[in-house]
Amino acid sequence: MYHKYLSSKNFFEFLYKTDQDLAKKTKEKGCRICGSKVHVANYMRKPRGVGDLADDFSLCFSFCCSRDGCRKRALAQSIRFFGRAVYWGVHMVLISAMLNGRSPELKKIMSEFNVDIKTLKRWRQWWKDFFPTTKFWKKLKGELYEEVELFPQGFLMILQKYNSENDAIIKLLHLLNGLKEPI
Ligand SMILES: [Zn+2]
Repeated sequence: MYHKYLSSKNFFEFLYKTDQDLAKKTKEKGCRICGSKVHVANYMRKPRGVGDLADDFSLCFSFCCSRDGCRKRALAQSIRFFGRAVYWGVHMVLISAMLNGRSPELKKIMSEFNVDIKTLKRWRQWWKDFFPTTKFWKKLKGELYEEVELFPQGFLMILQKYNSENDAIIKLLHLLNGLKEPI
């Protein structure tokens, strides 16, 4: 159901452009330590499970303080990458969602996107045990009118009530980008 997004060039192009905008904002803020201007210090990442999309959309937006003696690096906010995780954020979210739904195609998806069972279990545990305990979720929970039992599937379904499927996924990626906790 969601797997079309995982290999869609258009979808990744959109994520990439969104990250470009987020990077612009990070640059405008300057160095978070000393407030000096920052220089662009982008680098290529090698996210797993991407096939042909890797080369076009793997550039990670990063900055470096221009002041000698500081040179603090600043990673731009991103909806493609969650911190230093080696998979694309959207893979982590959507493959986890399909796992909740026990998609019969899951094995195929795992091999297609090169995700091993150990990683899947780690993701499942993160959603099951860690995500519900975050301040982020506790706050949001109070604003929802219904219970969510399965993450991320149930949460995605709620977002889809008010948004198209595509927009619901983007919204979730933005929300997770704001979550300052490791995945
Ligand atoms: Zn600085």
